[in-house]
Amino acid sequence: MNIVTADFCAYLHAEVVGDKSEERFEINRVAVDSRTLLNDSDTLFFALVGPNHDGHAYIEELVRLGVIYFVVSDRTKIIPQEGVTYFVVQDTLRALQQAATWHRQKFAIPVIGITGSRGKTVVKEWLNFLLSPEYSISKSPKSYNSQTGVPLSVFGMAEQHTIGLFEVGISTVNEMQKLQPIVQPTLGIITSITKEHQEGFESVAQKVREKMQLFTHTPIILGEKNSVISTAVPQLSKYMDWSLTDSDSVLYGELKGGELFLIYNKVEKFTVELPFVTEFEVNNCMTCILTMLTMGYAIEIIQARIKHLYAIELRLQVKKGINNCSLIDDAYSSDFQSLSIALDFLEKHRSNANKTVILSDVFHSGLEPRELYQQVNHLLKNYQIGKVICIGEEISQYGKDSEVKRFFSSTEEFLQKVSMDEFVDETILIKGSRGFRFDKIVSLLEEKTHETVLEINLTAIRHNLNFYRSKLQPETKTMVMVKAFGYGHGSVEIAKLLEHEKVSYLGVAFADEGIVLRKAGIKTNIIVMNPEISAFSAMLAYDLEPEIYSIRELRAFLQVARAKNAYHYPIHIKVETGMHRHGFLTHELDELLDILKHTNSVAVTSIFSHLSSSDMEQYQGFTLGQMELFVKNSTYIKERLNIQPLLHILNTSGIYNYTTYQMDMVRLGIGLYGIGNDVEEMRQLRNVGTLKTRIMQVKEIQTTESVGYGRRFRAERPTKIATVPIGYADGIHRVWGSNGGYVMIQNKKAPITGSICMDMLMVDVTEIDCVEGDEVIIFGEELPTTVIASAIHTIPYEIITSVSQRVKRIFFEE
Ligand SMILES: *Cc1c(COP(=O)(O)O)cnc(C)c1O
Repeated sequence: MNIVTADFCAYLHAEVVGDKSEERFEINRVAVDSRTLLNDSDTLFFALVGPNHDGHAYIEELVRLGVIYFVVSDRTKIIPQEGVTYFVVQDTLRALQQAATWHRQKFAIPVIGITGSRGKTVVKEWLNFLLSPEYSISKSPKSYNSQTGVPLSVFGMAEQHTIGLFEVGISTVNEMQKLQPIVQPTLGIITSITKEHQEGFESVAQKVREKMQLFTHTPIILGEKNSVISTAVPQLSKYMDWSLTDSDSVLYGELKGGELFLIYNKVEKFTVELPFVTEFEVNNCMTCILTMLTMGYAIEIIQARIKHLYAIELRLQVKKGINNCSLIDDAYSSDFQSLSIALDFLEKHRSNANKTVILSDVFHSGLEPRELYQQVNHLLKNYQIGKVICIGEEISQYGKDSEVKRFFSSTEEFLQKVSMDEFVDETILIKGSRGFRFDKIVSLLEEKTHETVLEINLTAIRHNLNFYRSKLQPETKTMVMVKAFGYGHGSVEIAKLLEHEKVSYLGVAFADEGIVLRKAGIKTNIIVMNPEISAFSAMLAYDLEPEIYSIRELRAFLQVARAKNAYHYPIHIKVETGMHRHGFLTHELDELLDILKHTNSVAVTSIFSHLSSSDMEQYQGFTLGQMELFVKNSTYIKERLNIQPLLHILNTSGIYNYTTYQMDMVRLGIGLYGIGNDVEEMRQLRNVGTLKTRIMQVKEIQTTESVGYGRRFRAERPTKIATVPIGYADGIHRVWGSNGGYVMIQNKKAPITGSICMDMLMVDVTEIDCVEGDEVIIFGEELPTTVIASAIHTIPYEIITSVSQRVKRIFFEE
């Protein structure tokens, strides 16, 4: 993009500060994320300001990386430097949106805008597949459909494109107005409207009206026949509807055994073979078929292409691989945009230092192959990929540029020539378009375990972190507890995310847990809460900071610290205020101070205490008493030593209930994992872990027949029983079975019958239409751990930390 500086400033009402010499400037990308490795001198960086995030904080770092163009709103954060230009505006998000609108106006090509509650990304990706033989498409990467995602997507439009395909989502009223001018769709698609994401709206009708604002200047809109939608269609637009129930619609379809019998405009009859059967997918197919008809596609082409549609994996996942590798499976598409997203994901989530990419031919989208592969090579270099395996004729021809690459003309050739045992201790991104069948590579590299998995939603973790951060003052630091294997979820992956989110400290219980994190490359400060004397030496070696809770422990630590010539090694003093677990009592403080005054081997970095009942309203008086004692004793220590350490006392429910006592830092635990202690708090958190497995077997039993050990269940009617391969050895509490326990299958409750076994349990599925292989949810969004915990008289902490290590953890982002 070549931009005339004066025009740009006029459009954004921006003032230039810094280097004013240039009349025009040239950029290749627009960025808002300071942390991708792509930022360089071709980047225009918008310093966005949010409740928990201030892009201005990264300016210095970005200048160091070579970024020279910034859009900012806070003048005080400008770092004057030769060659660096700042555009100062009132509101950087607004400016980003305006700049995108400006960019959009340069293109006269058709643009399809897609909105709705569900199915936006699927419809977009499918249309991309269906239209790509004729068009060179500019589309939203993944599901970039928010107030920042939409402008960033539109900035992807370039000269070579012949159509735009953008999805647009909103979470509350008045957002669509801002996005409409950025997209300016010439054809509108509205996908399913459901009650999902309803929080920001008064009613479904209001949500539909808001979404429809995307189409105020769009001549044709299409979607399902639905009276709520049709009443909200803008005056000047025409609504083309499809239906599976009402033949009085533009496209009417009947589904019979995998085939859709269609009538278009009430006269034209044809059938389409469907690769899918679920309602969601059939609806999305109808939308795509009607879009193609509206665009003038011949029926034969529609028939030929629809049957090749494929399921779309909307999220990237980290899976455990063989030989201590981890895998990022993105084996269904390969275009430049999604490659850069996948590389970013690789950078954020790698658990090994060695980065490997297996890459197929990359889809052109209108670029000359030579230019495209030059860009691909540049990208791989920026991300410092140590090993690149290129598979395909084209990439083999154009991709050659360095010795880290190996080339194979086909997946078969690769599989013949390369043994999977060559991959050791690597994080491997597997990225290829579907035709290359990289799923074969994935299945060879994947570690084989049984079908039970604990899925962890990293996006939800980030949401929960931000929820608690939003309650705090911007300067309050956050320590996050990742003890006990990240509360059972997986410590390394979560620590990576937290490091990326720049939390100040991580808290673990034992030194071993901290060492695992350090070995995985975590650099954030780590406090060990229950340090054992035998581990002190290792702690110093791995830069782990101890909690000091007694004189005996302090003396032992000093001995090791002195032997290693430590100077001002950070320690954290725990004072006892009522929990009676760990810490210095008031009368022990003088002895503590006496020792600390006479050493410079250690330095008190923080003083803290722990609340015993911050979640219990009836103990409010007691809790306030703990705070008071803490303030008194920590002040005493500070004054006597003349130091200014960090003070902290709040855990999760403390942050929620006693926010004013946040002091210098808080210690977030259970809330990060989506568990709060009352309904109101829970409502604002997102579910993080889902423990799921699959039905192994389904059988019918007769009245009076029994199920399981000890014949504890007797059928009172002919009963359908499903056997599920998960038991108490996986961490399912056996008492749950006899306390009204159930699992979820097809979103319905299936009661546990008989005693839970070590590796299996049986459930009653008489009322559920299910078959072997169907998914079974043990806990998750539909069945929260809080429900299980209260039924068996324990707390959710115990439920989540009980999930055994033999259960595979899978991490994903939305
Ligand atoms: C575990 C722990 C926390 C976090 O508690 P949550 O209730 O999970 O938020 C905070 N501080 C200390 C000392 C802990 O051991």
